[in-house]
Amino acid sequence: MSQMPAAVSIREVGPRDGLQNEEPIPTGAKVRLLDALSGTGVRRIEAVSFVHPRAIPQMADADEVWRQAGKVDGVRYSALVPNTRGAERALAAGFTEIEVVVSASDTHNRRNVNRSTDESLDDIAELIDLLHSAGARAEVIVATSFGCPYEGDVDPGRVAGIVERVVRDGADRVAFGDTTGMGTPRRVRELVTAVRDREPDVPVLLHFHNTRGTALANLLTALELGITEFDASVGGLGGCPYAPGASGNLATEEAVHMLHDMGIDTGIDLDALIGVAELAEELLGKRLPSGVLRAGPRTRLTARP
Ligand code: ZN
Repeated sequence: MSQMPAAVSIREVGPRDGLQNEEPIPTGAKVRLLDALSGTGVRRIEAVSFVHPRAIPQMADADEVWRQAGKVDGVRYSALVPNTRGAERALAAGFTEIEVVVSASDTHNRRNVNRSTDESLDDIAELIDLLHSAGARAEVIVATSFGCPYEGDVDPGRVAGIVERVVRDGADRVAFGDTTGMGTPRRVRELVTAVRDREPDVPVLLHFHNTRGTALANLLTALELGITEFDASVGGLGGCPYAPGASGNLATEEAVHMLHDMGIDTGIDLDALIGVAELAEELLGKRLPSGVLRAGPRTRLTARP
């Protein structure tokens, strides 16, 4: 096995990506989840998104959630925005780490925002300027990086071309989203290699979904490639928007459980995190798909009923 990193940085995305793909819950419940996560030792949290309430009712109270949330020293909070209006709201709320999404697949991008990928990239160039002039950092998330539910395979060369463009336009980091869980270790290897060939220096974050059960295999492959930044969602919160009932995001406690056993530090207290996953189930009134939530850490010899 190749040399493994000593530590990885996990960004907890349950409060945003997770909740955005679940039935809406009250503002107070969102604040409880966010605050509980802030106490687990996790160092990065995607807290909210500033989107139009008609487009995504789950995030209609983003300003209020963020106002009420306890901001813990040492935790970096970020927000996702769809456009300039959202970016202005995020900046006004005090965020200095802001994410914007574009889809590598033209069809997927058109279905989401009614623009081609190239048109969205033009908008993003302006958005990056706006964020930088306000002193914020801009991350570009490339959705459908490992495959598209409409187009099928997505050429890693096309994704690398998008990265080249956004790096030229000033992106501080790029993230690759496996939006519908089409990623496999082979695809992870091909994508990371293609991107590194074109842009070896840009910080890279990977966002895996476990829709088809490959998220941990993809994580392991990425570690072997030297990637050290990952998104994950407590409890596996956030189903797949294209497949009702299917798993979505990689569960944070599944990732942390595996990483710690491999001697890789995350800063996260696994028992505390499992407690938050239990809280998330309570707040949503449903069972979440995480195996580590069901079975507990390895040292717990009896599973939950
Ligand atoms: Zn996701």
